[in-house]
Amino acid sequence: MEIIGSLLHEFLHVFLLLHGCLGCMENWVEGGASGHGEAFLNTMHALYTEGIRLFGRNILGKESGCMVSLAIEIVHDGTPDAENNIPDEMLDRWDVWRPRLIQEVERRRGMERDEAVPDR
Ligand SMILES: [Zn+2]
Repeated sequence: MEIIGSLLHEFLHVFLLLHGCLGCMENWVEGGASGHGEAFLNTMHALYTEGIRLFGRNILGKESGCMVSLAIEIVHDGTPDAENNIPDEMLDRWDVWRPRLIQEVERRRGMERDEAVPDR
């Protein structure tokens, strides 16, 4: 993800924190465990799609970051089901390809396991 895409990502976190429903921030449909719940992904994809139309991929980067954001959310147990149970309709909405998502989730779980091993 390019710098402008990263800025959009972080701005969206701030916007949802300030204007989202604080009562249901832990609910995946709203905030999610890592802040990358359904509302975040829907809005990020819409922002990215409009950004591409206005500025082009060279400015925004080649990916919306939805796949990585969803993987982070899954690793932090924010989703109600395992990654295999997220409906195709949702993944299609965010242009997320399931095999690539599963690969990213496994990579991140491996990173977390490696970090959990105490130093001797
Ligand atoms: Zn984020």
